[in-house]
Amino acid sequence: MSNKTIQMEDALHAYYIESTLREPDLFRELREETASLPESNMQISPEQGQFMRVLIELMGARKTVEIGTFTGYSALSVASALPEDGRLVACDVSEVWTAIGKRYWEAAGVAEKIDLRIGPGTETLDQLIEEGEAGSFDFAFIDADKTGYDTYYEKCLVLLRQGGLITIDNTLWGGKIANPSDNDSDTLAIRDLLVKVRDDKRVSSSLVPIGDGLLLARKR
Ligand code: CA
Repeated sequence: MSNKTIQMEDALHAYYIESTLREPDLFRELREETASLPESNMQISPEQGQFMRVLIELMGARKTVEIGTFTGYSALSVASALPEDGRLVACDVSEVWTAIGKRYWEAAGVAEKIDLRIGPGTETLDQLIEEGEAGSFDFAFIDADKTGYDTYYEKCLVLLRQGGLITIDNTLWGGKIANPSDNDSDTLAIRDLLVKVRDDKRVSSSLVPIGDGLLLARKR
């Protein structure tokens, strides 16, 4: 028993996956295809995808956005939990990575819910704000370049309705945030964001140690 977050060593993690993971075959196949890419560690873990599906269902979310789609596992997770008329605006800079995702979105029957926008995330978010969509989104997932996190956070806060949720990936950053000798720009950006969100009166927040850390910020 422990009153702090448990350390998940390999045997416990394997047990956790074996006894709790619900992962449709298509999702697993997308993970397996992505595993052959050099950037495969950019994909979220399957237990995190499952957690995000629960969040979407819990909120009854309909309108969602993600920044950083990669090969589409998180989009597949979110879109599959959305109702039929739900929508995910998926932002990424890569046609190549997202083309992999598209195949699985189509096979899973969720492609119509996903509005893929290729281009810098900041521009797409600005475009949504200009199109009058501020205050209308239920859910946002931020998982792109870490030095852009603060900008994405601010723009997502504008797009979210009151009570909407921003989720921010890699916020434990493989433990690097706690190592004082790690001071690269990505690490510094994540450290700054954690302190900012902790002290941000506009949101309620919690960092969930699932995957590489998922920071939740609910707009008040
Ligand atoms: Ca990530």
